[in-house]
Amino acid sequence: MVRVRYAPSPTGLQHIGSVRTALFAYLYARSQAGVFLLRIEDTDRERYDEASLQDIYDTFGWLGLRWDEGPDVGGAYGPYVQSERLDIYRRHAARLVDAGFAYYAYDSAQELAAQREASDGKGGYDRRFRDMPEEQLASYRDSGVPAVIRFKTPLDGSTRFDDVVLGQLSWKNEDLPADPVLMKSDGFPTYHLAAVVDDHLMEISHIMRGPEWVPSTPVHVLLYEAFGWEPPVFCHLPLVVGEDGKKLSKRHGATRVLEFRERGYLPEALINYLVRVGWSYDDKQEIFSLEELERIFLLDRINKAPAVFDYQKLEWLNGYYIRECAADSLAQALLPFMQRSGLIADPPDEADIRTVRDAVPLIQERLKYLADAPGLIRFLFEEPDFDPEEMVPKKLDRGETAALLEAVLPLVAQIPDATDEENEERFRAKAAALETRLGNLLMPIRVAITGSRVSPPLFGSIRLLGADSSVRRVQKALQRLKESR
Ligand code: GLU
Repeated sequence: MVRVRYAPSPTGLQHIGSVRTALFAYLYARSQAGVFLLRIEDTDRERYDEASLQDIYDTFGWLGLRWDEGPDVGGAYGPYVQSERLDIYRRHAARLVDAGFAYYAYDSAQELAAQREASDGKGGYDRRFRDMPEEQLASYRDSGVPAVIRFKTPLDGSTRFDDVVLGQLSWKNEDLPADPVLMKSDGFPTYHLAAVVDDHLMEISHIMRGPEWVPSTPVHVLLYEAFGWEPPVFCHLPLVVGEDGKKLSKRHGATRVLEFRERGYLPEALINYLVRVGWSYDDKQEIFSLEELERIFLLDRINKAPAVFDYQKLEWLNGYYIRECAADSLAQALLPFMQRSGLIADPPDEADIRTVRDAVPLIQERLKYLADAPGLIRFLFEEPDFDPEEMVPKKLDRGETAALLEAVLPLVAQIPDATDEENEERFRAKAAALETRLGNLLMPIRVAITGSRVSPPLFGSIRLLGADSSVRRVQKALQRLKESR
């Protein structure tokens, strides 16, 4: 049975790279009819942050990726929060001490700092308690210095493991961290101990995680050996980098998942994009639904090379999913953005919901992000504010523009009752009669109605706004043109 986990530490907001890891694990579990579980690794009490715990739930709730077992949904292997499993770690650490694989160490913080310094910042540890005779240890034990438990890493030889993506890897044991801490003096385990114990007890079959954990893996392999356990399959995913080949960071663009949400990405687009960050199906297919991915995702298609995060491609996919969206669901997705811009109330009233829904066909093709919508349809909710000069077409002056507007006013009133073709026909005929270009008639109206020279299709916009309001706006604009002459 395939059992995989996503094991975030609540020490920062969900990063797009971590969510890529979670997505791969989720998809692999689904494709194998296995189990995907969430485990909260909250053993670093100094960096623990309540808000980032909530962010885990918000992020995955928004993306629509659900785990089968986890703190919120339960399961037979719980608790799924490491701070609720301290006793388990304590017992396992003691077991290693008893079997001679680990030992108590009584170094003070100052001593450790001095050793770090002496090792040229390499974090070396002199293992002074590793083989200390019992009589000598006793004095430390009685002195009240808080003890930690350290793991005895072998002094020579090497440790190897197979990785699904990276192949066979081998480490000289002398290059491993010298006797890393397993249990801290505050009674909390370190990542190494907690992850290994939990992965074993939770019967994790495949460890899928980011490449930054590769150097920890030989220590884990040694821990599995010390416990006498079979290690799971390791699968380290490729690094996510920016266009410059450097690890993806704020410098490249948004990296927090909820930032993408705020900018108006659809979860489907983000998921579809993320799956291609380090995985490919046949090098051609770009569009994948979650359902399809849940069937076809396999580990042998994961690339080894760092995966470049391409914001433009993501933007393109977002536009694609926005265009594919059913009008009602798109309208629904736009409401929070309209609310955030203060254009509609929270909760929205019926009339506003209808307006947004009716505006969807006008803007669906032009939206790159949901957050573009308020700017495009603001004019439907409030009178536009603009400089009358904006209405004046090139090569015309204010007087000429005013005269044209006056001449087309009757046509504006008729727009809502006619088709786009009829309207176009009428305006063309009018332009010919006035010996001017069609654009010279439409542009001032567009500015008068929407406040901008670029807007959703004009006739449709006027139809939505209604004849009365539209005529009033054109009249008012005309007035302003005349006054400011
Ligand atoms: N808690 C670790 C993290 O924050 C998990 C690493 C692992 O998957 O083993 O990424």
